Amino acid sequence: MNTKIVLASNNAGKLKEFQQLLAKQQLDILPQARFKVSEVEETGLSFVENAIIKARHASKIANLPAIADDSGLEVDFLDGAPGIYSARFSGANANDAKNNQELLERLHDVPHEQRSARFQCVLVYLRHPLDPTPLICQGTWEGRILTEPQGTNGFGYDPLFLDPTTGLSSAELSKAEKNTRSHRAKALQGLLAQLSQ
Ligand code: IMP
Repeated sequence: MNTKIVLASNNAGKLKEFQQLLAKQQLDILPQARFKVSEVEETGLSFVENAIIKARHASKIANLPAIADDSGLEVDFLDGAPGIYSARFSGANANDAKNNQELLERLHDVPHEQRSARFQCVLVYLRHPLDPTPLICQGTWEGRILTEPQGTNGFGYDPLFLDPTTGLSSAELSKAEKNTRSHRAKALQGLLAQLSQ
């Protein structure tokens, strides 16, 4: 029988990516919405703290092992911002379009060579809410911020993130291509390796 795991995210883009990435595993990844898990306040100051907060909350309410990811974009010219605040970069009513606009404005006139950035993803697996030894994995994807959006796939900052290897934005990559190179895919490979031990 497949192991049931609750995924501590309501982000539809992330959910799709996880389901594709985990399609071949003997795991039933159940979105937290199925258990009416409410959003929890992300009070941590690092990706790992926020991922643990989200996983613990979902595991407690769903009474299942939980996976949570906390991810975001780090831009060198902005001293690492938006970082853990990536989803809320443009303020209280933030959405993907407003966040992308905010990023373009803050990088206005910044030359290509100073637009280096990376996506970070930290994944946490908790066997139960009080698990004292969570499994933790991190994945990074290096790139640059474009001067205008390109592509319509993906979510979040994908249209502004240039993957230097392909010369395409993350939103121009197919789902399958993104899943071979993304921060989330790399973190998940690490987590699956630990889970299979
Ligand atoms: P979280 O849900 O608190 O982890 O917020 C993550 C935020 O980082 C998302 O809302 C996006 O803005 C951004 N982000 C994380 N991963 C990606 C990605 O793969 N593509 C584009 N944006 C991402």
